[in-house]
Amino acid sequence: MKWESIRLFAFISTFSIFSILEYFFPWRKRELSRLSRWPSNLLLILVNSLTLRLLLGAGSVGMALVVTAKKWGVVHLLKLTPSLSVDIALIIFFDLAIYLQHLASHLIAPLWRLHRVHHTDPDLDVTSALRFHPLEILLSMMFKFLLIVISGASVRSVVLFEVVLSSMAIFNHSNIVIPERFESLLRKLFVTPQMHIIHHSVEKTESDTNFGFNLSIWDRLFKTYQESFDSSGVIGQQKFRLASDQKLTSLLTQPFKK
Ligand SMILES: [Zn+2]
Repeated sequence: MKWESIRLFAFISTFSIFSILEYFFPWRKRELSRLSRWPSNLLLILVNSLTLRLLLGAGSVGMALVVTAKKWGVVHLLKLTPSLSVDIALIIFFDLAIYLQHLASHLIAPLWRLHRVHHTDPDLDVTSALRFHPLEILLSMMFKFLLIVISGASVRSVVLFEVVLSSMAIFNHSNIVIPERFESLLRKLFVTPQMHIIHHSVEKTESDTNFGFNLSIWDRLFKTYQESFDSSGVIGQQKFRLASDQKLTSLLTQPFKK
């Protein structure tokens, strides 16, 4: 329960801080009002947490507890003692793995149908960060289970990674102005909103770039990095631009429509 509280506290505080920053220092003009997106985006986040809780119980924390008790994975094989360096190494390993998972979500048709729900948001802000289809959330959690089993990550490493991932997702989807020089320095190592937004372009050539979540190094390493928009910078999906496409029922049924 202690770990759950840490995660929830980190989520609520990061979400609140960036919502306030977006309000006072907005970057791009919105296509739709907050009122036509926020209720369904927030409801979808709620549906996702309930689905995870009901179907996969304690989730990644539960799996880390099992792995620690059974002494599975590389951490136990190499007899590594818990330390901050082990946590950081695991966070980097998980980050690379979810970069590859994200790449697969764009390349494999059925996975793209699920992932497209995240991409149909015609604006990006803090609520876009966790707006995923529940089935994609379940698949992602099962992939995390596999990573935990392989690595033998402890509860502490897993919670640290979850906190970093959700905080970075909120940050790099947020609609905030960042001074240009600071942003260009920051993106040498981390994914910034100005880098990630290109991944949400309506143009496929641009949405198939910048797949990173936390570190920007993977995109540079695997040659999927794009510095700025070549297009006019419209984001979302051409077919789903209406306010009605952003309703909760539309988001839930979207992957199954022709
Ligand atoms: Zn994507």
